[in-house]
Amino acid sequence: MVQHNSLPSYWYGFESRHPLQLIKFDMSLLRIFDLLLPVFGIILGSFVGAFHHRKISLQNKEDIIFKRSRCDICKKKLAIWELVPIMSYLLLKGRCYSCKSIIPRQYLIIEILFFIISINILFLPLNEFEAYIVLVLIGLLIIQAISDFEKKELFTLASILIALFGINLSIVTSIYSTLSFSVIGMVAGFLCLYLLNKIYYLFKKKDGIGSGDFLLFGATLAIHGIEMFGPMLLIASSITLGIGYYTSSLHKEMPLGTGLAIAGIIFLLMPF
Ligand SMILES: [Zn+2]
Repeated sequence: MVQHNSLPSYWYGFESRHPLQLIKFDMSLLRIFDLLLPVFGIILGSFVGAFHHRKISLQNKEDIIFKRSRCDICKKKLAIWELVPIMSYLLLKGRCYSCKSIIPRQYLIIEILFFIISINILFLPLNEFEAYIVLVLIGLLIIQAISDFEKKELFTLASILIALFGINLSIVTSIYSTLSFSVIGMVAGFLCLYLLNKIYYLFKKKDGIGSGDFLLFGATLAIHGIEMFGPMLLIASSITLGIGYYTSSLHKEMPLGTGLAIAGIIFLLMPF
């Protein structure tokens, strides 16, 4: 039995969403959507893992959505049971069933990360529809974060999708931002970094900020609104500087996109 006075203060008003209560007392259709969120999260994590390994690390052109996955080494098509996230990795002890080559551990790490993130989302004051949008947004932001970190590249389509889902989110809920602030944020975020880069170019005759960064900053502010302009920029640049420091690349090109994406995720999981 969950004691109400044992819940942190931010749960008051949302007690019905406590996962333990939801398993024990409330199995209505909507609560089943809640229970399915972590399952969807793990499947999404499995897709992000495949996207990371095949599209970002190996730069493979193969279709990863409609074509059955294969082992990267022996090229054998994976059986259905080998595609079950987390469980298959543990059962196979991290090796291909046919050729025993090592399956990259990132798959398992990303799937577990998505499971934890989906559980975290269940505690936010969102309805089922909004919770799924937030999870997809985090998936897109993680793809951008990894891609900018590893390859210094951002996907334009992913940033456009983030902006569209962000605007959509501000229409259905005001927990992150309102529609007008969200649209103003998107335009202001893009223009600010664009102009900053133009000024930098005037003096240094080279680009200081990549065009992917303008788009991604606009997109993250489409989620969080113009009111988060300062905090987003502060957290994103701190994260980017931190990465630059730890990877000893402070004087080279630093992944601002990774900082922006991580800041976007932090504010999605901790709405103010
Ligand atoms: Zn194999």
